[in-house]
Amino acid sequence: MRFIEPVWMTSNEEKALKKVLKEKNQKKIAQIATMAYSWRIRGIAAEKLIDQHTLADIAKNDKVEIVAEVAAKKITEQLILLDIAQNAFGINIREMAVEKLTAYGDLENIAMNNSFSSVRVAAVNKLNDQSILVSIAKREDDIDVFNAAIKKLTDQSVIAEILINLTKKSIIDNALKYLPDEKQIMNIIEHTKNEYLASRALNKLGGYLCSACKKGNLPRNGNAVSCICEHCNAENHDFKRGYDSETLNNTTEKVTTWNECKRCGKKTDRETDIRFTDW
Ligand SMILES: [Zn+2]
Ligand SMILES: [Zn+2]
Repeated sequence: MRFIEPVWMTSNEEKALKKVLKEKNQKKIAQIATMAYSWRIRGIAAEKLIDQHTLADIAKNDKVEIVAEVAAKKITEQLILLDIAQNAFGINIREMAVEKLTAYGDLENIAMNNSFSSVRVAAVNKLNDQSILVSIAKREDDIDVFNAAIKKLTDQSVIAEILINLTKKSIIDNALKYLPDEKQIMNIIEHTKNEYLASRALNKLGGYLCSACKKGNLPRNGNAVSCICEHCNAENHDFKRGYDSETLNNTTEKVTTWNECKRCGKKTDRETDIRFTDW
């Protein structure tokens, strides 16, 4: 007996297309959607498919994202969506499934435990419970997920409490954006043991951390902060690089550089250098 290959198993897309368009039997449509040679044919079949479990199988496993997407869009059953959110091959497909999930506990679980940060972000975006968002922000090491959680927090003292225990620099810089309350920033300056955090918080209030005694200096009575530390008299400047150049002839220029304090304007000695502009 000769095995006759179905047309949709071959690379003849035109014939396969005719077949899939007229096919009415859901069992056959499922076969085509999961096994057709051409991804276009699989996509068209998925579009016609009703069975949520077969659609889930396609959403999770089809390596061509468009096909997986067609299937994922048609899924509405929450348990199946949860399975896709946790197990789909494509990260985008997982995110799509999270967006359609409604059970709070499932979203919380994904926000806490999914190994892909963008999937955790999608779940955090759907959460509003402040205490859950706090626990996510406290344990989260990924800046995008942390960001998604902290920007939904409304209480400044709660944000300050999270900040005070942070150690990762990029997360500290990011979190300070969400703390405009000066009283809470002072609270951090007074209580943190993290030098980087103290320094960033002082900067935010127009002050600085003394590099010699490690104590804070802040502007007083509306005056700009002095570059001489009020605790130990050490000089602290916030230098930026100055640069000037003068063309001497076709091939050389004189370059002058110096440092200039952004706070008090103090300049360091100028250094000049002759550079060749044309080799
Ligand atoms: Zn000092
Ligand atoms: Zn200065």
